[in-house]
Amino acid sequence: MNRHTDIFNSTKIDTRARLRLLYGNAIGGLFVTLLCMSVLCFAFDTPEQQRSKTIIFFVFLTVHSLRLIDNIWTLRQSQKTNFNLTTAVWRFSIGVVLNSSIWASYSVLFVPTMQNIEITVTAVIMSALAGGAITVLAASTRLSLVYMSSLILPFSIMGFYSEFEYFHYISFLGISFWFVMLVSAGQAGKFISETLSLKNQNASLLDLMNIEKQEVERINNQLITVNEQLDRYNHTLESEVEKRTEEIYRLSNIDSLTSLANRSAFLKSLKKILQQSINSGLNKHYALLFIDLDGFKDVNDGFGHKIGDAVLSEIAYRLKQYEVVIDIDDRKDIMLCRWGGDEFLLLRLFEDDTTLDTLIENIQQSVLEPIGVASNNITLGASIGIAKFPLDSVDAHELIQYADISMYHHKKHGEGQATYFSPSLFIEFQHDQVIRDGLKYALAKNELSLFYQPIIDIETNKPWAIEALARWWHNDQSVSACEFIPMAEKSGRIVEIGAWVLHQACQDAVQWPCELAPAVSVNVSSLQLLDADFIAVINRALSDSGLAPNRLHLEITESVMLENGELASSQLKAITDKGIHISIDDFGTGFSSLNQLQTMSFDIIKIDRSFLQGLSQKDLTIIAATKLIADEFDAKTVAEGIETESELMSLKALGIRYIQGYLLAKPMANEMLHDWVKRFSDGK
Ligand code: C2E
Ligand code: MG
Ligand code: MG
Repeated sequence: MNRHTDIFNSTKIDTRARLRLLYGNAIGGLFVTLLCMSVLCFAFDTPEQQRSKTIIFFVFLTVHSLRLIDNIWTLRQSQKTNFNLTTAVWRFSIGVVLNSSIWASYSVLFVPTMQNIEITVTAVIMSALAGGAITVLAASTRLSLVYMSSLILPFSIMGFYSEFEYFHYISFLGISFWFVMLVSAGQAGKFISETLSLKNQNASLLDLMNIEKQEVERINNQLITVNEQLDRYNHTLESEVEKRTEEIYRLSNIDSLTSLANRSAFLKSLKKILQQSINSGLNKHYALLFIDLDGFKDVNDGFGHKIGDAVLSEIAYRLKQYEVVIDIDDRKDIMLCRWGGDEFLLLRLFEDDTTLDTLIENIQQSVLEPIGVASNNITLGASIGIAKFPLDSVDAHELIQYADISMYHHKKHGEGQATYFSPSLFIEFQHDQVIRDGLKYALAKNELSLFYQPIIDIETNKPWAIEALARWWHNDQSVSACEFIPMAEKSGRIVEIGAWVLHQACQDAVQWPCELAPAVSVNVSSLQLLDADFIAVINRALSDSGLAPNRLHLEITESVMLENGELASSQLKAITDKGIHISIDDFGTGFSSLNQLQTMSFDIIKIDRSFLQGLSQKDLTIIAATKLIADEFDAKTVAEGIETESELMSLKALGIRYIQGYLLAKPMANEMLHDWVKRFSDGK
């Protein structure tokens, strides 16, 4: 704290407080002292001193008046911040000193001549005023000492010069009183100093409190603003979190293409629904429909993925009408999903098979409705497999698997509206699985072999070509080519199996003497033909065996042209350019148009066995027409699957020259061919 240079030697605040105290007390003091002075100057009969007393009184009155004016003015002005404290202190001090001087002068002038009663009254007044001064001037110890001393000391000292002996005693008492007053003044001053210091401390504490209060208020306001901001931020954060949660749910549960549920969401729901039914005593019956689109692959390949996607969305939209949502635990459960690709799963509560049949019929109809996408009218079908809960299984995964197996069966055989699961389907499926798994190691385990079935030229009655037919010896039994070849095609294994067949057939054929057969006929799957390495595989088979290319026939089916006509045509051209012959196998069972035949390079047409079974007039017409077509394309006609003499006669009558069938020869091992030729030429 800064010290203030005035008589109080204290801080500015302290000085202001002391000054207010002095000026505040002074008004009463001035009034009392003026009264006392009036009494002393005019109450006693002292004619010789009256003039002096009157002068003293008026001086006293003047000083008092000035002090009173100063007092009133200072008290008003002291409130102002720019109020000059120092001059006010000086003015007050001068006032006190002047008063003190008047009192001292009064004592010096009049005490020696005072008479009995005046002595007593003056002594009382002086002592009373001195005592009062200690209190009134307590804010300034120095001033109170000066004032108190000016009242007592001159009066007491001058008393010793009085002619009255008792006055000496009063003087003595006065001196003693002065000493006591000295101590009192000191203590009063100390008390005031302490009080002021406490007051100042209080004031600064209050100031501090105010500052802190303001600071707290400021921080509070800031906190409120920050809180409001936080609230706003929290709100946006909450909605952001909500949005994100929805997005995560969508990403993890919804199929983005069709907006149906995805696999995991459906599976979760299915498990819950089934469990709920198990818990309540299997009182509900559900049918799980596995729906797979027929012909979707062609849409994707032919029209592109964009249209494929639009078709899937449309189908999803149509299937959605058949989703009957049920509530379990107040939560809507997922009853329909896109399982993957063009597969959909639908779960329905059902009461009897009739309602189920109607539902399936409706779904079939709905899928069959043409779909208009980008000015195309696309028509698809649906293969549907159904597994029932709890009849077929109570396990979610098993139910899906069974429905899938049933769908697969339905797709393969295409009978009826849909296929309901039965244990025999599962056995068939397992058998397929065994074949699929076994095929992986068939080549490595040397389980594959070739049988040969001759094709006879009935004009020369000699073998014209020999067809190589693959055989698979697996788990101590022979697996039919009809069974494992489609499986090998589905798993893609046909490419390596076919390469082996080609290689082996060429190796065997090159050993055959020329009179046995001029050519070997090898079946080629469309996957092989469309494989980029196929020409290299042929080259290797020919160069490794040394077989002349014109002794090799490759049997392909006409369906290859449907899959990738352009590539198939160029491959066929490359093959026939080498001098290899191309035979169209199972002719008439595919759906190739004559137009497509024009783009194919081929040399032989093999009429499928199905036209020879029964041999109706219609079949004969088809065979005759096929021969005509073959002749038109300068190709040879082979009839396969001849089992009876009458079939042979009919074909002969139609001018078919090349015949293959059990009637003439069944497929046989390579080693058996020699014996067979011998027996055949001997006519046995
Ligand atoms: P495919 O090429 O049309 O072969 C004729 C099938 O008919 C053979 O059955 C043969 O054994 C059978 N067959 C021949 N004559 C008669 C007959 O008079 N009556 C009866 N009922 N059947 C007769 P396989 O060997 O079971 O072959 C079935 C099919 O498997 C073949 O039909 C062919 O498409 C395919 N295949 C066989 N081996 C291969 C192969 O190495 N590669 C490819 N890609 N397919 C093959
Ligand atoms: Mg064949
Ligand atoms: Mg055939």
